[in-house]
Amino acid sequence: MPKIEVMVERCKGCERCNDACPQRIVQMSPKLNAKGYNFAVLADPPRCIGCRMCAISCPDSAIEVFVEGAQYEFFAY
Ligand code: SF4
Ligand code: SF4
Repeated sequence: MPKIEVMVERCKGCERCNDACPQRIVQMSPKLNAKGYNFAVLADPPRCIGCRMCAISCPDSAIEVFVEGAQYEFFAY
C-alpha cells in the first residue's frame, strides 16, 4: 500500500493537495501546526492509489509519497 508522509510544520493548509487528489482522501486536520494552520492528513489510507498528485501539487513540498512497485518508477523524481 502506498504511504503518505506530511511534513506538518511545512503545511499552510491551502488544500491544494485535497483538490489534486483523485480519491479526495487528503483532508485538513482539526489540529493546528506551530504556525497555526490546519495541516493535511490522509483520511482514508487504504484508498490511496499512490499517484503522487498530492505531493506534486503542494507548493511547499510538504508531502512525500512512498510507493513500492516498478510500475511507479516513471513518476520518480
Ligand atoms: S498519492 Fe494520489 S491518491 Fe494518494 S493521497 Fe496523494 S493524490 Fe491522493
Ligand atoms: S498542498 Fe501542501 S501546504 Fe497546501 S494543504 Fe496540502 S500539504 Fe499543506
